[in-house]
Amino acid sequence: MMRQYELVERVRRYNPNTDEALLNRAYVYAMRAHGTQTRASGDPYMSHPLEVAAILTDLKLDDATIVSAVLHDTIEDTEATREEIDHLFGSEIGALVEGLTKIKKLDLVSKKAAQAENLRKLLLAIADDVRVLLVKLADRLHNMRTLHFVPPEKRARIAEETLDIYAPLAGRMGMQELREELENLAFRHFMPEAYETIEIRLTELSRESGPVIEEIERELAAKLRTFGIEAEVAGRLKRAYSVWKKMERKSVSFEQLSDIFGFRVIVDRLEDCYRVLGIVHTTWPSVPGRFKDYISTPKQNDYRSIHTTIVGPGRRRVELQIRTRQMDEVAELGIAAHALYKDNRASDRDALARESRAYSWLRKTIETLAEGDNPEEFLEHTKLELFHDQVFCFTPKGRLIALPRGATPIDFAYAVHTDVGNTAVGCKVNGRIVPLLSELHNGDEVEIVRALGQVPPAAWETIAVTGKARSAIRRATRAAVRKQYAGLGRRIVERAFERAGKAYSDEKLKASLPRLARTSLDDVLAAVGRGEIFSGDVVRAVYPDFKVERVAGAPAGKGEIGWFGIKQAEGLVFKVPGQESAIETGRSIPIRGIDGELPVKFAPNGGAVPGDRIVGILTKGEGITIYPIQSPALTAFDDQPERWLDVRWDIEDTHRHRFPAQITVTAINEPGTLAQIAAIIGENDGNIDTIAVSGRAADFREVVIDLEVWDLKHLNAIIAQLKARPVVSRVERVNG
Ligand code: MN
Repeated sequence: MMRQYELVERVRRYNPNTDEALLNRAYVYAMRAHGTQTRASGDPYMSHPLEVAAILTDLKLDDATIVSAVLHDTIEDTEATREEIDHLFGSEIGALVEGLTKIKKLDLVSKKAAQAENLRKLLLAIADDVRVLLVKLADRLHNMRTLHFVPPEKRARIAEETLDIYAPLAGRMGMQELREELENLAFRHFMPEAYETIEIRLTELSRESGPVIEEIERELAAKLRTFGIEAEVAGRLKRAYSVWKKMERKSVSFEQLSDIFGFRVIVDRLEDCYRVLGIVHTTWPSVPGRFKDYISTPKQNDYRSIHTTIVGPGRRRVELQIRTRQMDEVAELGIAAHALYKDNRASDRDALARESRAYSWLRKTIETLAEGDNPEEFLEHTKLELFHDQVFCFTPKGRLIALPRGATPIDFAYAVHTDVGNTAVGCKVNGRIVPLLSELHNGDEVEIVRALGQVPPAAWETIAVTGKARSAIRRATRAAVRKQYAGLGRRIVERAFERAGKAYSDEKLKASLPRLARTSLDDVLAAVGRGEIFSGDVVRAVYPDFKVERVAGAPAGKGEIGWFGIKQAEGLVFKVPGQESAIETGRSIPIRGIDGELPVKFAPNGGAVPGDRIVGILTKGEGITIYPIQSPALTAFDDQPERWLDVRWDIEDTHRHRFPAQITVTAINEPGTLAQIAAIIGENDGNIDTIAVSGRAADFREVVIDLEVWDLKHLNAIIAQLKARPVVSRVERVNG
């Protein structure tokens, strides 16, 4: 196992200004935390974080990354906590270790190959900092290097996951060397027979062709030297996995594969790359269709190189990659090649140039990772904020469901299957029962509780955030709602005929359908119920000589006596004399979690009542406003988490007060309706504060009522009583 001074020595080799005391503290802390834990190999557990740190010193990463690597398994596997790590090593390292802990939890979930793309995104969503991904990749590399100690039945799954997720991630981050090693190790455990066969052939071949490789290297270098170019030429056998991929892709046998070797020509300057290309192409015939210039058009991960294949010395096909030393570094190390460790010896100008190159490179990488999403909005220095607009959750069986941010278990249910959504009645998140309108978070395991024969409440349509859920809810509720409207419409139509002194029958109305431009009886009744057709027009359609008396409240009848039996105008607001508002009397609002100095008030238009889950929003110079958690107004503060306060009700049964709430009642436009509504609220111990009347649909009026109630249960009881009355077609809580 690596000794303490060896770790420090490794870092000091590339960073003479390293904080040795910090490295030593981390070493001792992790050593103590892991104690006597061992690896599957029987080695002390501590050997693993140290090897991970060692891999990262090869990438010349900064102290925070190295220390995080040493500590990366402490929170998850030992008694260590984030607070303790923050305290001892600072919050930068604390955040990195916590990021790694979150990712580690994902390893526990079973994964399917089809989910790989989503899982890569999940990794990115969870890793706030690119350094978390670098440590994670090093962690995976060491685990793959020691995979043969793990029980055989587990190996294939870990190997497959490496091929699906971690190797491509390394590739996208431009780290080819790491990618190839991960792929090759994974291939060995995932398809042992194929690996074995190819390895044996490669070994034979390298024995046979060892001298050939050297000969080609020598001849190429010598040729270039005659043109005054000093180049480093290195040949190597390809790795088993890349040979396998080639065989798969081209469906050729090993014997037919001519390009088992690859040669790299490394030069100092960019223009030399093209000179080398010219010399090589004029000296040896080139193989058509194999030339690619990734210098003038770099790959998305900033890979730059010229590729060509020639029939070279000894008439052997030789694959060449021509590039500068700097391009080679980027090709091998990718994101890590770019000054994540700042070289203190370099001059300021060098450092600046390096940093700006690193920045633009990182930017491009993030764009690649984001794949067409607009990364500008998410990019913040080296933070990987992409996919922060999404949450990734799991079904109890481990299937991954990607949802937009703000999604609820309702969205989750519909994403699983429309039937699951339509029959959802409750849910458990991470084993605990929560409301269906809760917001889901990354990594949540969601179990939907179902009841057959259920119709989703129409209100879900406004709660759901995914289009799929919304349209499914609309489809499912449309039929049910239509039935309700038709019932209401029938009542309105029958009364209208009664008031007009005319006889009503379905047959008569059916005969008049063309005059109403409707195709069925239900269609007409539902339209009346929805307020799209005026009941008087229905009467006139059946009895064309009937003179419609338009009652007040309809657009033409503004200010007339009529609706509800009182004189009123559009948008009229009047105060109902009642008890004094508890809130206006200046007593303190009974809420916990708030420091007594700040003024507290309820949100306008409804506010919160005891029983609601609530949050406080802090406004500088104004104090705290309390909102119910479901309030749509809260979305305005989504991007200002610092203003959100966690608050709770602080109510004692002996000390009761009323709280303001707002409801909207849609009722049939008939004399006496308002009186009925007011009476219901009064009988149920509600206290009306103000009433505002408006109306768009002919046979209906909308009444917005500010009232005061004891708590949520009381408010719900009043709403239920109102809904039970035939004159009332709809009641909704505002902000509720
Ligand atoms: Mn680990």
